[in-house]
Amino acid sequence: MRLLGTILDIILPVYCLSCGAKGVDLCAECLTECPAAERESAKWITPLYDYRHPKVKRAVWLLKYRGRRKLASIFAGALYGRILEELSDLSIMENFKDALLVPIPLSGKRYRERGFNQAELICRELVKLDREENLKLDSGILIKPKDTIHQAHIENRNARIKNIVGSFAVKNIERIKNRNIILIDDVTTTGATLAEARKIMKSYGARKIIAFTIAH
Ligand SMILES: [Zn+2]
Repeated sequence: MRLLGTILDIILPVYCLSCGAKGVDLCAECLTECPAAERESAKWITPLYDYRHPKVKRAVWLLKYRGRRKLASIFAGALYGRILEELSDLSIMENFKDALLVPIPLSGKRYRERGFNQAELICRELVKLDREENLKLDSGILIKPKDTIHQAHIENRNARIKNIVGSFAVKNIERIKNRNIILIDDVTTTGATLAEARKIMKSYGARKIIAFTIAH
């Protein structure tokens, strides 16, 4: 499937679903014109765009379910600016330095089905953009041993929290002790997934944890 997708990407040109420019499903310029996330989320979580907007939703879907990897670099471009803004404040106010980038993991089962983790792809693109080396990537640190029902398929908030509790584990505790962490995910809805990831990393001694997502 992945190979077929790659071949199709090579032979079939891709066009921006907003302006029609050739190259990527949603170009950087059109992404910045999408409406910003406005629904309330926890203070430590920064979502960029409004997931209810059809173009945002479609672009996230294409990355996740059609493996359109170029979108990971478009999303990373948008995220990187916001991360730097946040870091410039935090590094002074809270000594938030040498941040570790941690993608929200998929379970082994889902990873095998999909062939990649979209949050990890975005993280890898972030590292490429990060010439000053503010960010270090550690994709293996947070793992998801338990396969859970996809959060998007659960309507009820409490049921979502229940579904995700206890689903993450930390692989190398020493690596997160006293470290500042930046969690990355594609979409946040209730924030339950990010909160659970934060909780377990905190319990192993991580210092300050913030999160960024493409959409909310
Ligand atoms: Zn465009």
